[in-house]
Amino acid sequence: MKKIVFATNNEGKIRELKKIFDECFDKNSFEIYSLKDIGVKLDVEEDGLCYEHNAMIKARYVYGKVKDYIVIADDSGLEIEALDNEPGIFSARYMGEDTDYDVKNNNLIERLNSADSENRAARFVCVLAVIFDNFTERIVRADWEGEISDKILGENGFGYDPIFYLREYDMTSAQLSEELKNKISHRAMALKKLSLLKEFKDIE
Ligand code: IMP
Repeated sequence: MKKIVFATNNEGKIRELKKIFDECFDKNSFEIYSLKDIGVKLDVEEDGLCYEHNAMIKARYVYGKVKDYIVIADDSGLEIEALDNEPGIFSARYMGEDTDYDVKNNNLIERLNSADSENRAARFVCVLAVIFDNFTERIVRADWEGEISDKILGENGFGYDPIFYLREYDMTSAQLSEELKNKISHRAMALKKLSLLKEFKDIE
């Protein structure tokens, strides 16, 4: 059994990652831990210029604190095309880390409504960085395409889910069941890609 730790403090992400992991990986080959489980604090500045850089900053930080674990770190964000792909890598810090997501979501809807554009296209991006216990580093990325709704809708998920509208379902990602979101999201697509890496296949 190999031990894997997810390098994130975000409970919403941990919940999703754990659930998706079971779909993509052989449960008998891996044990999953959160940072809380192993008593490590993610006390690092995410000052990279892109998702890939920030994900690797987090993965390397945690890798330096643990022994015999495979470390997976995620960096993700929401990009709104008509707002020059804001909030992007600053999604968690947009309007302040502690600001309520109702406020952030309403602000983005208002900004988009007052932008002189019909374009409501948006995407969730997920980058996963993994460091194996032999120091090998790998990165994968997945984009989930959608639009920005004109109002906040739905109670599920977290963060920007209530404004991320999916035309094919006529719902926001906060209206999807947890099960469906975990099948089709940026995080699900990225974890699937990760599970196909040769290094994981060799372990399974
Ligand atoms: P970070 O990757 O921890 O820097 O934070 C990414 C931020 O992007 C989160 O705090 C959310 O605001 C947003 N985000 C990423 N993925 C999702 C998602 O699946 N639903 C809603 N918001 C998300």
